[in-house]
Amino acid sequence: MNQLLPWHTEVYASLLTRFTDGTLPHALLFNGPPGIGKHRLAEALATRMLCQSPEASGLACGQCHACQLMAAATHPDLFRLHPEESSKLIRIDQIRQLIENLSLSAHYGGYRVVLIQPAEVMNSAAANSLLKTLEEPPSNTVIILVSAQPALLPATIRSRCQQVRLAVPPQAAARNWLQQQMPTEGDVDHLLALSYGAPLAACALAQAETLPQRQQMIADWQGLASGQGDPVKLAANWAKPDAQMPLEWIYGWLSDMIRLRASFSARLINPDARAALQKLADGLDLKRLYDLLGRVEDAIRLQQSAVNSQTLLEGILLQWCHLPRSH
Ligand SMILES: [Zn+2]
Repeated sequence: MNQLLPWHTEVYASLLTRFTDGTLPHALLFNGPPGIGKHRLAEALATRMLCQSPEASGLACGQCHACQLMAAATHPDLFRLHPEESSKLIRIDQIRQLIENLSLSAHYGGYRVVLIQPAEVMNSAAANSLLKTLEEPPSNTVIILVSAQPALLPATIRSRCQQVRLAVPPQAAARNWLQQQMPTEGDVDHLLALSYGAPLAACALAQAETLPQRQQMIADWQGLASGQGDPVKLAANWAKPDAQMPLEWIYGWLSDMIRLRASFSARLINPDARAALQKLADGLDLKRLYDLLGRVEDAIRLQQSAVNSQTLLEGILLQWCHLPRSH
């Protein structure tokens, strides 16, 4: 069953009150940075809406027939839309299928809930097709869009949804939660810093082989600056498991290099790599660092779509190799 993340208790309670009052808008857009549990909140709410005997706590019971069907992903009144295998996009045929299903009445006579995540990967035909449903929603239907990049959604879609803004939790709440998830003592502050304060992202970092990979990548990144290593080969290696992660690392390194170069006193994202990043930042032109950071931002945005992530990464590593260095 869906455990509520502690920092979502309040927003959940307010959404639930509106649901039970019958004042919940039919289209919601949960937006906020990645790794804070937006999807879990949406699932908890969806499950509660369809549960046949919700608990007094406000959560779904996890036991009833509906809850069991939802856990098995076979509840006929819960529609989860996400990119299908091997595709990065939510396509128009998925939306058409949804619309067709919504034209029938609810199987269990109650609500129907649609979860679209990540919503920004709907291609424009899919988004246009959904628009009509958002304008004239079927009764007793709640559509929840979940997005870490709502700016990529058409304004027409955004304007038809009630926005629910979800932020990175306060540091104390994030630390407490993360500490409880850790199998062993770990440096939760370091993990949170690397994840921009997003607890679920930090938790994933702690569990994967990601930290040693990052160490190696920082070493490779330093190597490139001194003319060692092949940026094209590195891009291919780095992009292999997942191109999002390397792009986010690079974003963090560059941001820290800018802070160090400009002598900002702000906290670093990569305090453990301070010496290496300081060395790299010295002798680089601040404006060129900002340019490269902008390019990485674009790449992070673009790689959500069908663009070849490896090519994006390659371009960034090549630009990094060729930055003029004064020593
Ligand atoms: Zn239930």
